[in-house]
Amino acid sequence: MNTRLVILPLIVFAAAGAAFAQVPSTDVFVFPVDGTELGKAQRVTDREGYDNQPRFLPGGRELVYSSQRDGQTDIYRHDLRSGSTVRVAETTESEYSPTPIPGTTSVSTVRDYGDLKQQLWSVDLKSGKETLLLPDVNPVGYHAWVDDGAVLLFVLGEPHTLQVATIGPGPGKVLAESPGRGLARIPGSNRMSYVDKGEDTWWLTAIDPSTGDMERLIATPEGREDYAWAKDGSVWIGDDSRLLRWSPGQDDGWQAIADLDAEGVYGITRVTFSSDGKRLAVVGARPPADLAQAYRDEAGRIVGAALTDVEGWDKLTYLATVIGHRLSGSAALEEAIDWAVETMGSEGLEVRKQAVQVPHWVRGKESLTVVAPRERELNILGLGDSVGTPAGGITAPIVVVGSFEELEALGRAKVEGKIVVYAVEWEGYGATVQFRTHGASRAAALGAVAALTRSATGHSLDTPHTGALRYDEAQPKIPAAALTPEDSAWMRQMSEMGREVVLRLEMDAKMHDDAESFNVIAEIAGSERPEEVVVMGGHYDSWDAGQGVHDDGAACIAAWQALRLIDQLGLRPRRTLRVVLWTNEENGLRGGREYHAALTDEQIAGHVAAIEMDSGVERPIGFGFGVSGVDTDAEERDPAYERALAKLRQIGALLDGLDAGHIRRGGGGADIGPLMRSGVPGLGVRTVGEHYFDWHHSDADTLDKVDPQNLRRAIALLGVMGYVLADMPERLIPVE
Ligand SMILES: [Zn+2]
Repeated sequence: MNTRLVILPLIVFAAAGAAFAQVPSTDVFVFPVDGTELGKAQRVTDREGYDNQPRFLPGGRELVYSSQRDGQTDIYRHDLRSGSTVRVAETTESEYSPTPIPGTTSVSTVRDYGDLKQQLWSVDLKSGKETLLLPDVNPVGYHAWVDDGAVLLFVLGEPHTLQVATIGPGPGKVLAESPGRGLARIPGSNRMSYVDKGEDTWWLTAIDPSTGDMERLIATPEGREDYAWAKDGSVWIGDDSRLLRWSPGQDDGWQAIADLDAEGVYGITRVTFSSDGKRLAVVGARPPADLAQAYRDEAGRIVGAALTDVEGWDKLTYLATVIGHRLSGSAALEEAIDWAVETMGSEGLEVRKQAVQVPHWVRGKESLTVVAPRERELNILGLGDSVGTPAGGITAPIVVVGSFEELEALGRAKVEGKIVVYAVEWEGYGATVQFRTHGASRAAALGAVAALTRSATGHSLDTPHTGALRYDEAQPKIPAAALTPEDSAWMRQMSEMGREVVLRLEMDAKMHDDAESFNVIAEIAGSERPEEVVVMGGHYDSWDAGQGVHDDGAACIAAWQALRLIDQLGLRPRRTLRVVLWTNEENGLRGGREYHAALTDEQIAGHVAAIEMDSGVERPIGFGFGVSGVDTDAEERDPAYERALAKLRQIGALLDGLDAGHIRRGGGGADIGPLMRSGVPGLGVRTVGEHYFDWHHSDADTLDKVDPQNLRRAIALLGVMGYVLADMPERLIPVE
């Protein structure tokens, strides 16, 4: 799976230009070791860039390592006592993998001439004399000494091969295929070891270089090919910030013995012991430079463009005013989609449509009439996906409940043949929406003929709020509609006073066959890693009430306009920055599901982050950040999550001027849910959330409820977060 990783350090890193930006920044640390106890870390290197491949010189007080500076990788020698560092060989080529040659004062190195010419040399640390060791073996990737006259080699090729060669002219002898880069001598034996990467499971394998006899020792933890043999015969291996140890004949498997996170050491790759076993050198990932500092200039340009933008508001005005609400299956939604695709195309964005089959529910005419005690009409909105009533409607007395418990307590005798009214209290959206979602089927189970639910809102000027219900297939499907909080309160009052209320509900609602709709996908292709994607957006469909502005047209426009401004500014992120206007979030989630389903596993793994905005465009305050499988509130912190959170907070600092850079633990969204469940880190935009539920899913969700400055802020927020996530050197959560 990781053949590329093997070649990278030797080829890509030696190439000129943009490739340098991709060199992982690593540092070398040394720990005193006593048995399995580690002392305090001593830093050998502390700089941006590639410092790697450490080996101790005999005596253990000095080490050599490879270091890339000014585009060239050379061998450096570091004295642990004095802290001094000197460059070893003054060559024009790059050198890698310095390795002391047993019984000599020389180290061997792989010299990279480019064009896949990589040869094994030695340099005498005393005299500086350089010698070509294996003139006929090329290209050498990695090596370890068998004795002072023979060397075990990883030779690049298709496939890579494990070879043994004697110093001097002549070819090497192939021992195996598909080795890993970690080669070593097994202490106290004449056998060597390597990692056999020929199968999905990688095996640490012992090999006798003279006979070629092999023995599988243990499977390495997933993706690990670097390891070190300790003097006591155990094997040590890095696993992010942890060190694992396996003692042959004693342990069944890898045992965690240390976590170096507190020392600031994580992303451990290479490990190596000094010959006396008293020191351990470890290569760890280097935290990226402060992102706020690195991106202040670009963020300033994006924020400036967003805060002076007028085009976004014009687009939202058109969407809200000329097109209006956009329920799945409606002509308005498809008109909005075509308009977006056409406009994005005319703006020079790469844009495409992704077909999605969506439910096609049509409300039709509906009314709720009080028949007794005195006839009058009430404002209602049928619940999304509800069945209709028979022609002429359903006329029945009501029974009022404040909870499911009250409903159950009444039992069939008091519910059958009645219209159940959930005159519930507003306890926040999550709690109150349960009655909208499940109320119809719970009432139908007791023989109710229809269900009415107090709208899921905290404030009302006699405004009903719709939203999807979910039928329990085991129960009869009865029609259901949302009441205004005012009417709900009146019915409760009447009920408490023992007064009968008779209602007539008439609904023409009907579910038709699925219709075709589309996700709109626009992007700026990544300049260096186009296969890696940051996706952001909202849902383009809405309920068939109001103009679908806060929910969620304005967020769609904000994401689109953020992409547009980044494009206009000429900013080209390393990764692809993609905007998706998902279809059918409200009554199906089919758009988000189809976006995910159409991706290969590899493409999903290429998604470095997904950002969703679907809580209105009030004043934004930041993001909630979630990763599937990580309990963000757990006392035991997940180190990878914490590091990602720290990076996001650095990016958030770029939005401090808008008071919009707060990153909260936990977050996500409905449309990015499928991506998140596949492991993609997710961000949900957060706002002050003062009035969103006063408007959403109702006729009040209209353009006049949006402060244009808040749309600008949302554009800035999405633009900065999307751009930096797409451009920063390291992925938000690096993959090994
Ligand atoms: Zn929404």
